[in-house]
Amino acid sequence: MHVRIAEGIHVIDGTNANVYVIETDAGIVQVDSAMRGQFGRIRSFYGPLGRGPSAVVVTHSHMDHIGELASVVATYGPVVYAHPEEILVIEGRRPMYSRSALIRLVGALVKPRPVAGVLDVHGFSAPGMRVLDTPGHTPGSITLVYEREGERYLFVGDAAFEGGGALRVNRRFSVDVEAAERSLELIERMSPALVLPGHGKPVRI
Ligand SMILES: [Zn+2]
Ligand SMILES: [Zn+2]
Repeated sequence: MHVRIAEGIHVIDGTNANVYVIETDAGIVQVDSAMRGQFGRIRSFYGPLGRGPSAVVVTHSHMDHIGELASVVATYGPVVYAHPEEILVIEGRRPMYSRSALIRLVGALVKPRPVAGVLDVHGFSAPGMRVLDTPGHTPGSITLVYEREGERYLFVGDAAFEGGGALRVNRRFSVDVEAAERSLELIERMSPALVLPGHGKPVRI
């Protein structure tokens, strides 16, 4: 089961956070890798396609975005890209970014398996795609910008949450709220676009 957003752009159903799949002529690009325990949903999506992602772009290293990254890598062998600040967490070299001691504790308990060999996302290139730094939620939060056939899609991770059809910064879970507010302004200046957040539904800006 999945939801189609546009031709060749999907969100895998029932994952948290949202896992997006972009089919391109150069292969499949996956955005984020859900919470630990949700690999079955990812595998069910790729089954009928007969292939998995050739690249995974990580918007940031929170546990609900890299939970099954290790399984995705082991199964499909994609190249993984993330911001250098987030690579430290993905590789298990530093704890999850959070202002909350409770969240850090939860993060340590359900810790995603580390993944090695992650490349700097600023070196990622695919037709129509580029990376925008949108820090604040975490130091290395990024937005994947995808332009195709006159439409612009923004995969923002948790740089902006959807709530009631609007975009907002999650003040409680962002490491640097002021930086996050500036990043949201940057995202809103990308209008017209379809924003595809880590949590919630697409938002037209
Ligand atoms: Zn999240
Ligand atoms: Zn997050």
